[in-house]
Amino acid sequence: MTDAPTRPVPQPGILKIAPYVPGRSDAPEGVKLVKLSANESPLGASPRAVEAMMTQAGRMHIYPEGSSRELRMALGEVHGISPDRIVCGFGSDDILHLLAQVYLGEGDEALMSQYGFNVYPIITRGASAEIVMVPETDYRADVDRMLASVTERTKVVFLANPNNPTGTYLPAAEVERLHAGLRPDILFVLDSAYAEYVTASDYSVGIDLVDKSENVVMVRTFSKMGIAGERVGWMYGPPHIVDAVNRIRGPFNVSLSGQAAAAAAARDVEFTARLRDHNARWREWLTLALSGNAIRVPPSQGNFVLALFENVETSKAAFGALRDKGLIVREMHGYGIPEGLRISIGLEEHMRAVVEVLKAFGAPGAN
Ligand SMILES: *Cc1c(COP(=O)(O)O)cnc(C)c1O
Repeated sequence: MTDAPTRPVPQPGILKIAPYVPGRSDAPEGVKLVKLSANESPLGASPRAVEAMMTQAGRMHIYPEGSSRELRMALGEVHGISPDRIVCGFGSDDILHLLAQVYLGEGDEALMSQYGFNVYPIITRGASAEIVMVPETDYRADVDRMLASVTERTKVVFLANPNNPTGTYLPAAEVERLHAGLRPDILFVLDSAYAEYVTASDYSVGIDLVDKSENVVMVRTFSKMGIAGERVGWMYGPPHIVDAVNRIRGPFNVSLSGQAAAAAAARDVEFTARLRDHNARWREWLTLALSGNAIRVPPSQGNFVLALFENVETSKAAFGALRDKGLIVREMHGYGIPEGLRISIGLEEHMRAVVEVLKAFGAPGAN
């Protein structure tokens, strides 16, 4: 007879989850902090979103509309898709957790690329399934290797496109090729968190792929486009997946203010364009100013770049030098890229300040 447990025991996958290590944000006393570590909007939120949120203050004693109806209508309108096939969540984190819970269980495998978003292992293990990390080629997801890693136990494939923290992306044709190689019972989760920032012309956000298949969902977020604090994300998928996710999600899973702010932000396409233009300009500028023999920057389509130093020591020293000036970037140990620092695209003065510091580490600087 086995000993009866003397205290509650977590499900098998839970303790395999590495404890979350938040980014460091300490700087010398008196130095003003500039946070370039969380890929937030440097231009704040859409003024219309702020206004919409204010109008809800007097209503906070009532429950929000449970299906985020207004927000789904706004998203449907802006993206030309049916609101009935949208599910909203408190951040796309919520949506990703729900998908894992619905489609993964003990004995199952989920596939992701090596440097993919680090929430995928957490939600997979949280569902007591195994995460399989597929090696990348030059910091980019490798479709052939991913397809070769599919087994009969594979139930979900996660792909962030563009990816965080590498910034690299797969063109539409590569995404289609990956999808075409998957069994129809494998759920393909296309995480388009940085879609608003993509400028590459051969990119597809995934709506077309959702529309022509039964096993693809597109996951999106407002966090990177000015509304990180209100926690709003959403997914677009085929009706049977929408139905399954709606059965398990919290009945009031998006706050009153979050719904209002996000709906206004979705409709404020001018603000989104302003964010994209600012980001594209300084993303290119920063990439050029950093790239050389000492620092390598994979081409990014996100609102951040990954600066790769020659070794871990240099990367550490660069992090320290930036921090001394109050410039907080993200260390990449948790992603298995200890020689890298992820730097969010910020305001011009902050981008220039970053480059000034990194010149001591071999950055060529602006020409
Ligand atoms: C930031 C990010 C998210 C968004 O998370 P939220 O919970 O919506 O804030 C999702 N996927 C990727 C790849 C991200 O980088």
